[in-house]
Amino acid sequence: MSNSENSIEIKASTSKSAISKKTRQKALNELQISENLKKQADELTVEYKFEDWNHVDQVLYAYAKIKGFVWRLQNTYYRVDKSISKKVFECQHAGKPKPHKSNDPDKIRATKSIRVECTCYINICWPKNDSNPRVTTFESQHKNHDLNITTAIFAPS
Ligand SMILES: [Zn+2]
Repeated sequence: MSNSENSIEIKASTSKSAISKKTRQKALNELQISENLKKQADELTVEYKFEDWNHVDQVLYAYAKIKGFVWRLQNTYYRVDKSISKKVFECQHAGKPKPHKSNDPDKIRATKSIRVECTCYINICWPKNDSNPRVTTFESQHKNHDLNITTAIFAPS
């Protein structure tokens, strides 16, 4: 139905998003993964500190690209002042398959959900009194699907 499940989903803040979701998506797709960013993605673990939410997007994008999967922004939490306090990303294959509306059994069989209950997810929190957002939970194991590792990313430049 939508193609959003095939890409990183970035929920725009309802209040004051300077750039649209589409623009951010495009910016991420065109982002060159620098050696530095690759290194940061390699170090991604619990307690890893980011500079800001933009940096979170960049490192997570690099991480997913290197590993061969796609994140889905599962939820965003806001403080009273509308700034972001927490983001939860999960693998696009996480979650239960969406129930199908059709009663036609042939149709149900033909429609494969990309959600196969993969368990990979990451919590990133930015407590109000902290200077940086950081990883609080990271389940890096994937389940029930393959990773599409692209060799191109490791090619020498
Ligand atoms: Zn997965």
